[in-house]
Amino acid sequence: MIYFDNAATTFVKPRSVHYAVNRAMRNYGANPGRSGHSLALAASSVVYECRCKVAKFFGCPKEENVVFTLNGTMSLNMAIKGVAKKGSHFIISCLEHNAVARPVDTLKRRGIIEYDVAKVYNSDEETVESFKKLIKSNTKAIVCTHVSNVFGNVLPIEKIGQLARESGITFIVDAAQSAGILNIDMKKMNIDILCMPAHKGLFAPMGLGIMLCSSSLPLETLIEGGTGSASSSLVQPDFMPDRFESGTVNLPAIAGLDAGVEFINSVGIKNIFNHEQRMVRYMYDEFSKLDGIELYTPRPKLPGFAPLLSFNIAEVGSDKVAQLLDEENIAVRAGLHCAYLAHSHYGTIGTGTVRLSPSLFNTVDEAKNVVRIVKKIKKYLS
Ligand code: PMP
Repeated sequence: MIYFDNAATTFVKPRSVHYAVNRAMRNYGANPGRSGHSLALAASSVVYECRCKVAKFFGCPKEENVVFTLNGTMSLNMAIKGVAKKGSHFIISCLEHNAVARPVDTLKRRGIIEYDVAKVYNSDEETVESFKKLIKSNTKAIVCTHVSNVFGNVLPIEKIGQLARESGITFIVDAAQSAGILNIDMKKMNIDILCMPAHKGLFAPMGLGIMLCSSSLPLETLIEGGTGSASSSLVQPDFMPDRFESGTVNLPAIAGLDAGVEFINSVGIKNIFNHEQRMVRYMYDEFSKLDGIELYTPRPKLPGFAPLLSFNIAEVGSDKVAQLLDEENIAVRAGLHCAYLAHSHYGTIGTGTVRLSPSLFNTVDEAKNVVRIVKKIKKYLS
């Protein structure tokens, strides 16, 4: 099987991640941050080490501001709903995943906020200007993806962050598709809240998300409960990370995340990016030579595009192409990729797109095979 669906979740994971998860389950699988016995303390110390590593990796000023959640969607819901105030205004980009668009739209339907959608252009200046034009006196937050999960566009996060900072607006970034592939520095990029799942570019198992806060923002909580701290009070703790970490965290996944970040540091994020880009560019160039293959973006390269490729075979639904690829043992994702806004922007709501998303563990030979099979399918369908 050629697995080109790493934007959904990375598979395979580094062997060090397997070992770390296994070690956590076999050797110290107690509940971290609860009991005082040595196994619980060992578990707590792994969680703490991972918090420190993640904070350093993303330029988060304090390790306690790294909050472990269930997935990227939960991190984004916590940030968006935690910031929203009755009567406030939000701005999101036209490339947002439903993990951003739906909570924001839900808040609007509940009469809590209003929001506008900023267009994304191939020029950074135009994109920043489109956000700027939408700012109102009551704009509370800009929520923006770093990389589109469908078309690979890289948004000018640093410049949008600067705009948000100058305007006193909270800046929330969805790094689901960029974490582990592009450098992210919360301070340099003026990011107030950074959200992501851990199971994609960070190579952790599923069931773990991260929300990093630049400071102890006055965020409302989405859920409350046991934190293993301040248990004599019914009031949710106001200190980080306990304020946002109610309930037992996913210890084996956190151990896996720790190993995943270590692995990325050892390979080098730039090398990971370059390897993925080599494969995506190869496929892009080959598809460009063919009649009847629809490509939606310029040739993927930084700073505008990350290594992710959406295409269609003219007149054929993306689901059909994905099914034929699966029959040839190639795993891709078709359809709308939980990204209604992005597909509306590119006019692909009717067909969806076939998305190819290789990872460090794929090879150029696999990319060559994918091109060969796409050509074969195209011929079969014509
Ligand atoms: N944002 C983007 C851009 C994504 O690609 C995804 C995952 N497809 C998410 C948010 C949500 O992540 P999760 O599925 O872990 O909740």
